[in-house]
Amino acid sequence: MAESTFDVVVIGGGPGGYVCAIRAAQLGFKVACVEKRGTLGGTCLNVGCIPSKALLAASEKYEEAKHGLARFGVKVAGVELDLPGVMKHKDEVVKSNVGGVEFLFKKNKITWLKGAGRITAANTVVVEGDTTQTVTASKAIVIATGSEVTPLPGLTIDEQKIVSSTGALALPEVPKRLVVIGGGVIGLELGSVWGRLGAQVTVVEFLDRVLPTMDGELSKQAQRILGKQGLTFKLSTKVTGATTTESGVALTLEPAAGGAAETLEADVVLVAIGRRPHTDGLGLDAVGVELDNRGRVKIDHHFATNVPGIYAIGDVVEGPMLAHKAEDEGVALAEILAGQAGHVNYDVIPGVVYTWPEVASVGKTEEELKAAGVAYKAGKFPFTANGRARAINSTDGFIKILADAHSDKVLGAHLIGPNVSEMVAELALAMEFGASAEDIARTCHAHPTLSEATKEAALAVDGRPLHM
Ligand code: FAD
Ligand code: NAD
Repeated sequence: MAESTFDVVVIGGGPGGYVCAIRAAQLGFKVACVEKRGTLGGTCLNVGCIPSKALLAASEKYEEAKHGLARFGVKVAGVELDLPGVMKHKDEVVKSNVGGVEFLFKKNKITWLKGAGRITAANTVVVEGDTTQTVTASKAIVIATGSEVTPLPGLTIDEQKIVSSTGALALPEVPKRLVVIGGGVIGLELGSVWGRLGAQVTVVEFLDRVLPTMDGELSKQAQRILGKQGLTFKLSTKVTGATTTESGVALTLEPAAGGAAETLEADVVLVAIGRRPHTDGLGLDAVGVELDNRGRVKIDHHFATNVPGIYAIGDVVEGPMLAHKAEDEGVALAEILAGQAGHVNYDVIPGVVYTWPEVASVGKTEEELKAAGVAYKAGKFPFTANGRARAINSTDGFIKILADAHSDKVLGAHLIGPNVSEMVAELALAMEFGASAEDIARTCHAHPTLSEATKEAALAVDGRPLHM
């Protein structure tokens, strides 16, 4: 007879759910995790962060071999794309990551309940898989069911010609013309992948800039650089309809503010206008768990819903839909359940776009500081003035640090350039420690590194960069 009583039952095996399960098990709880997908790891490991980064890496290598290596004096002839080989790389990366989570479950003695979970009472979950099983949670039920693609009215996603990110991670051939609807993170990352592999990519964005939630200067620079790489942008434009034809899709576009319509033909259309919380079939109505006005599970500062014993974390609750945010919430919740002081600092959650150059942000943008009336100083340093960036032929971009005008405390950092996905961690750590720009400027940074640009941007906050 399978085990049916646990301390903690987590519904959803993504970065929020599986990390919460591991931390709860480390803290001595008896834990089960309900996951309906055939593998653990959620959106992130199966059809999100990990496969997209595998394709980004492979397409970067192809692009570099084709166009980039000559600048280093390396001649390569006969560079060819082997798309099945690219997909094999991606599939192997996904397989080893999802298998890794299964291993961690075994190591931590977490029971994976395979099937769809439905909450039938504040301490009871029914799991419908090959069999139907009822389990109880004496301490907590954790909703970590993540998010799903937001559909665009008038377009039916068939994952062939009109695809979501999931279909765009597995196209069987490089489309001649790819239209991406939405100039957000997915649009720019997957647009970059297919653009490098040979597609003619047009990004249609409703607002007047790409990456609209990021610092304005970053958005502008990202669009300029990606434009130079061959991506075409149609900003302030909405898609009002689509007709699927034998050869592809004909989209009807209109200016966002209204006006004359035009037609744009595509072989494949990627719909990437955001994601929405996934709560279908969870039984939330029956137990009375409240949602907010955007359909997210409503929680308090301790991740508790309005129903005692039921908690929620990750993409299904408010906040940025990011894997590391979901993970940190999973850890914090497990610690709170164990009587510890788990917490997440929402002011210091880095966000990264893995294009090339990469784009990364942490803390407040200039727009946010201006709107809040905060007096700040900005220090900026371009990669064109960094020796290591020149050595690797990657000088596009800059680092900008925003510090309080009075205390010099770092309030935000905005980076575009090579490897900034890794470099943003130094700035996040500085912010966690309440560092000033001067603290960063006085920290010895190895030479020659890209990180010296961070030190120089910190010096620039005080108007004294050394190499500019
Ligand atoms: P999810 O990862 O969505 O996991 C939820 C799980 O719950 C799913 O496996 C689902 O099957 C399961 N589930 C749902 N309902 C039930 C049920 N009733 N019973 C049982 N199981 C259920 N974020 C980053 O930080 N960095 C990135 O580079 C990045 N890249 C991305 C690229 C793409 C293409 C996409 C789509 C997303 C990307 N994200 C990235 C976002 C990231 O994937 C999510 O923020 C993250 O996965 C959220 O974790 P989660 O645990 O809340 O939910
Ligand atoms: P997004 O919110 O990043 O971007 C959606 C874009 O679509 C926005 O620019 C928005 O203005 C635009 N848009 C909305 N409606 C539109 C319409 N009708 N027509 C044209 N444009 C429209 O969403 P996404 O790119 O779909 O990604 C979904 C989530 O996944 C995001 O929350 C993101 O955080 C996460 N994600 C993260 C990463 C990463 O961290 N590197 C990568 C991929 C996805």
